[in-house]
Amino acid sequence: MHHFTYRNGVLHAEDVSIDRIAAEVGTPFYCYSDATLTRHYQVFTDALAGLDATVCFAVKANSNLAVVRTLVGLGAGCDVVSGGELRLALKAGADPRKIVFSGVGKTADELKLALAMGVGQINVESEPELDQLSAIANAAGKTVRVALRVNPDVDAGSHDKISTGRKEDKFGIEWTLAPQLYRKARTLPGIAPTAVAVHIGSQITELAPFEAAFTRVRDLVALLRADGIDIRHVDLGGGLGVPYDHASPPPPTPAAYGDMVRRVFGNLGCALAFEPGRLIVGNAGILVTCVTLIKEGTSHRFTVVDAGMNDLVRPAMYDAHHDVMTIAQPRTAETVATDVVGPVCESSDRFARSVLLPILAPGDLIAFMTAGAYGSSMSSTYNSRPLVPEVLVKGDRFAVVRRRPSFDEMTALEQLPPWIG
Ligand SMILES: *Cc1c(COP(=O)(O)O)cnc(C)c1O
Repeated sequence: MHHFTYRNGVLHAEDVSIDRIAAEVGTPFYCYSDATLTRHYQVFTDALAGLDATVCFAVKANSNLAVVRTLVGLGAGCDVVSGGELRLALKAGADPRKIVFSGVGKTADELKLALAMGVGQINVESEPELDQLSAIANAAGKTVRVALRVNPDVDAGSHDKISTGRKEDKFGIEWTLAPQLYRKARTLPGIAPTAVAVHIGSQITELAPFEAAFTRVRDLVALLRADGIDIRHVDLGGGLGVPYDHASPPPPTPAAYGDMVRRVFGNLGCALAFEPGRLIVGNAGILVTCVTLIKEGTSHRFTVVDAGMNDLVRPAMYDAHHDVMTIAQPRTAETVATDVVGPVCESSDRFARSVLLPILAPGDLIAFMTAGAYGSSMSSTYNSRPLVPEVLVKGDRFAVVRRRPSFDEMTALEQLPPWIG
């Protein structure tokens, strides 16, 4: 559920009309709802009641400082996958002990930064990384809690490009190879191998793949303990799906997910960590865009909008669906089939194909719903388009939490070489 609803014929974010924000900041822009962020965080933590659980927001889903700060303010830790995200999490006030550093290719500089900042846990994804981390920690005179991220060889049943837990995916250490690497880790200076991590993908809409992966993790913990390796922490990653398409059956609820986790890990005696991204921010954000023109061919009607694939790449990259809502509530049930496309010079710059929408005209505003996760954080300036502003709404207030850059700001890092006049 979310807080974007029609009131007096106009789509509102909480108590603020989208029209009002558009008039002030221009289009396109992302709009986030504080109440929705808060609700999702609370629903997820409530679902884990009774477990010794830490929720670490996956910053890559939405790395806006105000969004991360809002979640940190609610008690969240952070899951980060780069030195930049680590610094952002710290800037947002995250407790370093509640930061988990994930990622398949951390550099030596990033590992050093993580140690210097006192990051709580580093999720190691390969033997070379383990060796390198040991050398760095040892040189710094520190010992760091390490999880090996295991690849349980489970198909999450999600889109191919967002599945991460199959043997052929680059992520994690094959679970069958993990025990021998834990035995090695135990002998390495600077490494406390007291955790196991897993993350099998994103936008997962069934519980079965999670349960299969978690059961493998639980069995691994038992095996490692029998080997004398004292596992105290288990990190179960993120990945729970959200409803994008209201015509499709809804994904499992956080409560059902929590019950499954309790069933698998209830009496293991481990502290659990979770890394939800999409579940927290997906429904809490929309991308608002203005219709530039309507282009009619012999067989196709194209509604061309001022947002492009550089602003929201999910449809082009993952064939993702976003429901479209008009900002003005439709007065009649009359609709017409149209593609909704952006202005970018790529055929994949298409947000929707043959959707039924009310009849639109240039200047009308529409929103791509459920755009809070992997929207702004994946955006680029392709076609020299400025990054779009982000707005956060709370009750009857709103604030621009990232403004639109000027052309001079966009080009400020560039300079001509000395051989060009
Ligand atoms: C991307 C990612 C997440 C978040 O996934 P969601 O599907 O957004 O919940 C969590 N953990 C790791 C290691 C990730 O790479």
